[in-house]
Amino acid sequence: MYHPPVLKNRRTLLERSEKFISDTYFTDCNLRGRLYGDTHQLTSLSVFQTAKRISYSEAVQQNFQPCKVGDAFGSTWWTCWFKVVLKIPEAWRGKEVHLRWESDGEGMLWRDEQPVQGLTKEGEKTSYILSECLKQNEPHSITLYVELACNGLFGAGQGSFIAAPDPNRKYTLQKAELVVFNRDVQELLTDFEMLVDIVKMLGEEDQRGYQALFTANEMVNLCDPTDPDSFSSARSLAQKFFRQRNGQSQHIVHAMGHCHIDSAWLWPYEETIRKCARSWVTVVRLMEKNPEFIFTCSQAQQFQWVKNWYPGLFSRIQYFVQKGQFIPVGGTWVEMDGNLPSGESMVRQFLEGQNFFKAEFGQYCKEFWLPDTFGYSAQLPQIMQGAGIDRFLTQKLSWNLVNTFPHNTFFWEGIDGSQVLTHFPPGNSYEMKGKIEDLIKTVKHNKDKGRANHSAVLFGFGDGGGGPTQLMLDRLQRVQDSDGLPRVNMSTPDRLFSELQAESGLLCTWSGELFLELHNGTYTTQAKIKLGNRRCEALLHDVEVGSCLALSQNVGFSYPTKQLQELWRLLLLNQFHDVIPGSCIEMVVEDALEYYKEIQKTGSRLLLSACHALRSTPWMEVGSGTAVLNTLSWDRTEVIALSEEGAQSRLALVKVPCVGVASLTDLAGSVSKVTVTVQADGTVRMENGLLQAVLDRMGHLVSLLLVQTNREAISDGCFGNQFVLFDDVPLYWDAWDVMDYHLQTRKPVVDVIKPVQVLSSGGLRGSVTFSLRISAKSSITQEVILDANCPYIKFSTQVDWAEAHKFLKVEFPVQVRSSNATYEIQFGHLQRPTHRNTSWDWVRFEVWGHKWADVSEHGFGVALLNDCKYGYSVHQNIMTLSLLRAPKAPDANADMGHHEFTYAVMPHAGSFQEASVIQHAYNLNFPLRLIPDMNNIRPWSMFTVSSAAVILETIKQAEGKNNSLVVRLFESHGSSVLAVLSTPFPVKEAWHCDLLEQPNYSRPAEVNDSKVSLTFRPFQIISLLLRIF
Ligand SMILES: [Zn+2]
Repeated sequence: MYHPPVLKNRRTLLERSEKFISDTYFTDCNLRGRLYGDTHQLTSLSVFQTAKRISYSEAVQQNFQPCKVGDAFGSTWWTCWFKVVLKIPEAWRGKEVHLRWESDGEGMLWRDEQPVQGLTKEGEKTSYILSECLKQNEPHSITLYVELACNGLFGAGQGSFIAAPDPNRKYTLQKAELVVFNRDVQELLTDFEMLVDIVKMLGEEDQRGYQALFTANEMVNLCDPTDPDSFSSARSLAQKFFRQRNGQSQHIVHAMGHCHIDSAWLWPYEETIRKCARSWVTVVRLMEKNPEFIFTCSQAQQFQWVKNWYPGLFSRIQYFVQKGQFIPVGGTWVEMDGNLPSGESMVRQFLEGQNFFKAEFGQYCKEFWLPDTFGYSAQLPQIMQGAGIDRFLTQKLSWNLVNTFPHNTFFWEGIDGSQVLTHFPPGNSYEMKGKIEDLIKTVKHNKDKGRANHSAVLFGFGDGGGGPTQLMLDRLQRVQDSDGLPRVNMSTPDRLFSELQAESGLLCTWSGELFLELHNGTYTTQAKIKLGNRRCEALLHDVEVGSCLALSQNVGFSYPTKQLQELWRLLLLNQFHDVIPGSCIEMVVEDALEYYKEIQKTGSRLLLSACHALRSTPWMEVGSGTAVLNTLSWDRTEVIALSEEGAQSRLALVKVPCVGVASLTDLAGSVSKVTVTVQADGTVRMENGLLQAVLDRMGHLVSLLLVQTNREAISDGCFGNQFVLFDDVPLYWDAWDVMDYHLQTRKPVVDVIKPVQVLSSGGLRGSVTFSLRISAKSSITQEVILDANCPYIKFSTQVDWAEAHKFLKVEFPVQVRSSNATYEIQFGHLQRPTHRNTSWDWVRFEVWGHKWADVSEHGFGVALLNDCKYGYSVHQNIMTLSLLRAPKAPDANADMGHHEFTYAVMPHAGSFQEASVIQHAYNLNFPLRLIPDMNNIRPWSMFTVSSAAVILETIKQAEGKNNSLVVRLFESHGSSVLAVLSTPFPVKEAWHCDLLEQPNYSRPAEVNDSKVSLTFRPFQIISLLLRIF
């Protein structure tokens, strides 16, 4: 056909094509206006509304009331069950027939008692295909149900999506009808859309963009929207363009469907169960139609939910896992926070996760998958390796506020030297749409051009949007190998990483933590969740140690395998990356605290029954005495309270051997007593022979002397234990972010309610108390405690907190000069600068650590310990612990109310390693436990470790092996050492094993009678499978 040549006006041609497919302009005559044909009303529509999440079988028995399009339902968190009765007109034979459903809220369509598809407008899922080509023998009269959750994809935030939910929102049904769908129009629209996007994305400097422009323009010329017979010639032109191939060097995109589902966030855990079902049933449906479609899916917990609640769907998923289309990834129980869980918690994330994947799908995951977490511990590479994983995918560091992370594909090296191949999808998203823009960005932003020629493109709506759509698949299918665009393979994580590994010679290495320069308030927000996590980690540790002691002494003892697994799984669930960070709504906080309560209740009962089981041993018997349990791997001599009243007479100084028990014998006579003296100037001096502390009337620590070296720890003229309040208004992410500028708003807390007074004047414990006013609504009461024989001074703190957008911290300016501070992390520690030389340094104005942080110069240092906090900063010589925040979104009541926590300061001679700072921080977090009603005990240890550098972290029954224990040790000093693990039992068998407890049969442990010799590299974790009874 002859046309006059087009003029040189790129804009008119481009806009002509855009208008031809616009859903806003010219729909009366353009192609988009032809997408749908005739419509037909439903036969009937009725609804049953309930405040509960009920099952299908319960729902269908309810009384349904007539309703219509345009009606509003809800309120928020309700569920509407719609009964949809329809009859497809006979005249539509040969046509593709859809049920079109548009509503607020998240819908699940049920047919023949089974969930069949998600219907969520925000996830572009508003159509259910009733027939692809209506035949006479197909059912025309059909009854369906739509289960509609009254919440959006991102909950129900009032005003802004992260604001606290609006409980009174209504949810409207906008469309419910039958419609003829013109598939040929859709195909052509997709061709046009891709060409238009190529024109726009490649820009005016690229000749390929002009080829796309002229192709699209000629297609408009050829295509008459009213005449479907004209479509094929237009489509041929598009296909000719898409089939023009690349050369061999083009970048390769590994496209994988994905649906990031937060296990709880702006909605409660219970809703996530339905989000998973809605999303995955949609994915399975897409797989049935598109055998090449691949979907990656993480979080064992979510699979477990679907298995429990949607068994039919779960078996379909199992089928597609076997086919290699539905790919479980990640290997963990949930996508946990990457900073706050303890080392052992991280191990259990993998242990529970990998065991689940192996049991249900026959395979372990090969990749750790954590796209959305707020930073990544430098111990993760070793933990991954131990769980059989040496590949890692995330992209969250693209959110860095200041510094651009320099790599997309690299080796990540942990504190012990373990390396994992790591990939950040260069498109900086895990919710792509298969559009040209996604492909171009992926190539353009790849910071390892020439080093890594493969990248991931993860496409699909997350958080209940139901993952990928047919349209996304159709887009990607068109440009598998189209000149000027990256090659697109529907791929798997395994193929991506294998390709990257094969060509890894030029890749760089990043050593140490992956610190996210954002969301640093999440180390502090929702203090009760942090407290619950720390307490429950300690309790489950103690239950396991106690149960193993019982097991070793009493063959009749039944190790609580099942209960412990249930409790661990609850704890692991709460470590999800919007729960433990505190970035969730109030409903989630309530659930999380309830789970902690359950762990505390059941865990305490299990610990008690383990201790009681010890009573039937010959060397322990029931009686009226008291024994003391020490679950840590060093001997401890400490003051313990025998009753809750805290009165002087109810204290005792006890000595308990490592991993063992002893009778309660008060050794008070053997150590120097604590004295507390009110001095002439009103200050109070507390001494215990190790430390001498002076507090002023406001509770400031004006002096802290290390007696042994006569060294002052507090900086001249400064106050330790100085509470400070900051304005805390971030740019947007309220619960998440604390911004650098908050530091400029520092205000010391100076208003005394009750000046220092002596509470306990000495003996085994000296203590003073005081109260300060933070504001008209908030106050602090503190008891400062010095125990006999204790190298640290404790600050037992109560805060009544009713602030808005304030941040409470406590400061200790110390007489130490060091360019680095040290922070405890999982199974080790790392250093961060105390100066602000570069942007990489100053952006670490708020950092995370676990039980302790330390700043030391040669020969002397000060450690700051805590029992439930995670936020720290050390700037120059000022050590700061972050205590409480008061964000208002997404939980309007976050952190309001009463808080109790303890921190401690420990000045020390020598290095923190030599001073046993690590052990003392453990002691603060793992109190000695009293066992009532026991007599006749000689002190007894189940295990001893010869090296002070090596910590025996975990003792548990081996998974699935009743006669074996797993013991896990790690090197904590950062040194290479030899250590001997001893036990009174003859060791029958000892194997090195991985974190999944799989023995390495080529590596028996070196055993000599009841001693196991071990060689450690710095920060190495060693797990042993032991048979000792
Ligand atoms: Zn997330």
